[in-house]
Amino acid sequence: MSLIRVCAVTKTYKGGDGVVEALKNVSLEISEGEFLALMGPSGSGKSTLLSVLGGLNPPTSGKLITDDIDVYALDSERLADFRHEYVGFVFQQYQLIPYLTALENVMLPLAITSLPGKEQRVMAQTVLEKVGLGTKAFRLPNQLSGGEQNRVAIARAIVNEPAIIFADEPTGSLDSKTARELLELFQTLNQSGLTIIMVTHNQENLNWVSRSVYIHDGVLVPIPEEA
Ligand code: ADP
Ligand code: ADP
Repeated sequence: MSLIRVCAVTKTYKGGDGVVEALKNVSLEISEGEFLALMGPSGSGKSTLLSVLGGLNPPTSGKLITDDIDVYALDSERLADFRHEYVGFVFQQYQLIPYLTALENVMLPLAITSLPGKEQRVMAQTVLEKVGLGTKAFRLPNQLSGGEQNRVAIARAIVNEPAIIFADEPTGSLDSKTARELLELFQTLNQSGLTIIMVTHNQENLNWVSRSVYIHDGVLVPIPEEA
């Protein structure tokens, strides 16, 4: 059974220069445990689709069904709960808070839970160890390399144990060695059961994923296996 079903989703934005149809009747099914790449030229709708999938951006028409939940039929409070339970985001810029340590940055998503502070610290430390930064928990972001900052961002995205990780161009600003380390980490997380959806422009990243789909002008086209 599919973990995620995008059903005939259309998304239009109204702006100064009229209406933009960013997604046009898009349908897509994603199984639990997939590592999916979303490809397509700039402006084709990748970020919009990612935000719709992540419960951040209601479609103009159509539905998102995740784990049998009709996501955008939820009221705003339940939608926030849904995001907290299911979704981890890794942004292009790491968006770490500069005056918080790695550990404190990773603890941020736990702040809204009712878990005791000590337990939050233990959970954050555990995921930092998982991404290989166990000994650097008390460093500030500017005392970490770019790749290490990236791993902190991933640790923060997975600390809630979400079912799905969304990553928008996660290797975009990384050198090839650091990019490879990030993809290895994603692969390990994917093998432990996380579903990962990654926007990427980089053809080499396709060697790591289980499937790629291509968007052009708001229309989704599956890429054949041999491509
Ligand atoms: P991509 O991620 O592939 O670059 P986007 O999803 O960001 O594509 O954008 C798809 C189209 O929708 C583009 O024409 C973009 O300008 C437009 N768009 C995206 N977000 C907004 C918004 N918040 N308001 C108006 N137009 C938007
Ligand atoms: P990316 O490089 O991740 O595709 P984008 O430039 O597509 O980044 O989008 C960055 C942010 O700006 C997104 O939140 C998107 O919704 C918003 N955005 C993109 N295009 C427009 C637009 N034409 N008008 C308003 N917001 C936009």
